[in-house]
Amino acid sequence: MDLDLVFLGTSASMPTARRAPAALLLRRGGERLLFDCAEGTQRQLQRSVVGLPEIEEIFLTHLHADHVLGLPGMLKTFALRGREEPGLTVYGPGGTRDLFGRFKPFLGRLPYELTVVELAPGGRLERGDYAIEAFAVQHGVSAVGYALVEQERPGRFDVAAADALGVPPGPERGTLQGGEPVTLADGRVITPDAVLGLARPGRKVAITGDTAPAPSVVQAAYRADLLVHEATFGDEEGERAKETMHATASEAAQVAKLAEVRLLALTHISPRYFGPELLREARAHFPDAVAPRDFDVVEIPFPERGAPRLVKGGGSAGRGTSYDQVAMTRKIQVATAGDVTEAEELQELLHNAGIEADVEPLDGEEGLSVLVPEDALEAAQDAIEALSEPDDIIAEP
Ligand SMILES: [Zn+2]
Ligand SMILES: [Zn+2]
Repeated sequence: MDLDLVFLGTSASMPTARRAPAALLLRRGGERLLFDCAEGTQRQLQRSVVGLPEIEEIFLTHLHADHVLGLPGMLKTFALRGREEPGLTVYGPGGTRDLFGRFKPFLGRLPYELTVVELAPGGRLERGDYAIEAFAVQHGVSAVGYALVEQERPGRFDVAAADALGVPPGPERGTLQGGEPVTLADGRVITPDAVLGLARPGRKVAITGDTAPAPSVVQAAYRADLLVHEATFGDEEGERAKETMHATASEAAQVAKLAEVRLLALTHISPRYFGPELLREARAHFPDAVAPRDFDVVEIPFPERGAPRLVKGGGSAGRGTSYDQVAMTRKIQVATAGDVTEAEELQELLHNAGIEADVEPLDGEEGLSVLVPEDALEAAQDAIEALSEPDDIIAEP
């Protein structure tokens, strides 16, 4: 049973050229569960390998604009496509019903059934071989995190033991593997524990939404395979994180460490950060951390098949557009330039040092960003320092 998460939006509070605001698609077997639905989520889905499926369940962590504004548009698209079946259920914390009351004028009449279910911390949805648990977070407003918790799986079938007991190959073995006893032709009853190893653990994924570091998150994420924790700020903005009830990357890492998770994924990155600098701060506390970009995927195999891992660009529909190249190659800013001429001078200088740099507009600011492959960052910094006079790079006004 495949389990992965497609990061559709990894930005905090507002979209940037590189990052959309919060949305995360969990894929488990044929199921598609959407967590948060910020502005532009339907378009992020369309641009991804997933496309825009007839999503049946959406889980909202809280009702801030940067987590819900994509709902009216997406729900309307489903209506315009003539969807009558299946219905759609939106789960969210207290206040979600009120929010949909306010969405009504945008939505008009929908041809499919829309159900809103409010979940308090501790709320639990049983889904057969897994459950979804809502847990408490600390964001100063009505908010929950969600944990997907799989049930234990039966132990491995011991063929040698079955042979020794005289269980014939065929349906009897399947019955035993399914946890039921069988009666053999000679009248002996074989119970599953005689041929099955120890039960194997299921997987667990915890998604915090927005939150300050919280003991309730440590508890809910305890020994999770993957913890997706917000990391809005860096260390130097620790005070701001406290005031706004967000977490720094270091705080997210400390939560991951206390919870003994296998992998931490940082998301909800403030537009002032690039990503790698937050990841460095987090890894100082907890090395098994990643900072996905939009369209990255984290795969979570069963524990016996390996560790959870980040697949860069794994959710990207096509390769070749400049956007996807950025997502694929992981370049990091080494310098900024005031205009194109300065940027090209820097690019030339780096080229002479054997480093191929990219130039891109800065997010939300005047000027250009000079980007180099992450593993060439130090060499690029040295080259810039050694080969240039400061005045050559930063033009006087
Ligand atoms: Zn947010
Ligand atoms: Zn928020």
